[in-house]
Amino acid sequence: MKPRLKMMSKTKNTPLDGIDLILADLDGVVYRGKQAIPHAIEALNKAQKSLQVTYLTNNASRTPESVSEQLNSLGLKTNPSDILTSPQAAMRSLRELVSPGAVVLVVGGDGLRRELEQSGYRITESAEDAPQAVVQGFAADVSWKQLAEASFALHNPDVPWIATNNDWTLPTERGMAPGNGTLVSAVHLATGRMPIVAGKPERALFDFARERFDSKNPLMIGDRLDTDILGANRAGVKSLLVLTGADQAKQVLAADPDSRPAFVIEDLRGLHEEYPQPRVEIDADGKRTVTVRDSIVTMTENEVSAPVPGSSRIDLLRAGAQAIWSSGLAIYGLKVDPAIYA
Ligand SMILES: [Mg+2]
Repeated sequence: MKPRLKMMSKTKNTPLDGIDLILADLDGVVYRGKQAIPHAIEALNKAQKSLQVTYLTNNASRTPESVSEQLNSLGLKTNPSDILTSPQAAMRSLRELVSPGAVVLVVGGDGLRRELEQSGYRITESAEDAPQAVVQGFAADVSWKQLAEASFALHNPDVPWIATNNDWTLPTERGMAPGNGTLVSAVHLATGRMPIVAGKPERALFDFARERFDSKNPLMIGDRLDTDILGANRAGVKSLLVLTGADQAKQVLAADPDSRPAFVIEDLRGLHEEYPQPRVEIDADGKRTVTVRDSIVTMTENEVSAPVPGSSRIDLLRAGAQAIWSSGLAIYGLKVDPAIYA
């Protein structure tokens, strides 16, 4: 056994092992507002030396060119073809329902209109033109008139409705604003119908990315469990949560089974660092002990404790998450030592 252990300790198992494509979210992963997130640019540029890195955005009001320009201004090296948007994924869903050449009623901005035109659809803003589909994405100038025309068109049950994304909120420099989901919901309330959604957490954007780069084993990097990680899991894509954005330790411990990431890291330097495998032991009394390097978490019935917090906050969180997730118990009934999510 000894030589084998020695060999294993030499091999560095990072989250990028065996990965052939990185799918990265933007807000909370690459930047926050106008600022790059510490270590993100360096870590992604390093990954890009050996891997295709692609950026996924639900925001339908931006074009791949404008996103790529912004990323390059932060120090990344991207081309517009490295950026995949929810309007592009929406086109993939639309083509399965309505052939190019058809008239499509659009609610949204330039990014969406351009994708529709490039895909060969004819655009209208009036339900009187008998559109064969409705496609809805966010733009800051979407008006009641456009929402009403979409509703009129959707009164025909044979007209499919595709939304680029269903995000309730849109982070802006002045705070949270209503996102596309709120505008979609206005049309939903007027028509009683539900759209097909292309963006995260639905799988169309992930499927589109995998096809575009012919990838067998991609890794999704995100900061939100309910969009990035849930969507990746639905699409069968390995996922990594980075704690530089929306979701933090507490949300990790409470994650539903379908929103649990394969990896949790503090910042993107973790992409290139060894990722420890948690060791789970269960004794005769049912006490669960999870060890991650020098952090130990135990779980007895509904009590989760950290008898040995160890030297790293993130290893302690990984051990706590593993203990709770592997127990199959819901977070609500558990008493969790606050040190684990401090
Ligand atoms: Mg994000």
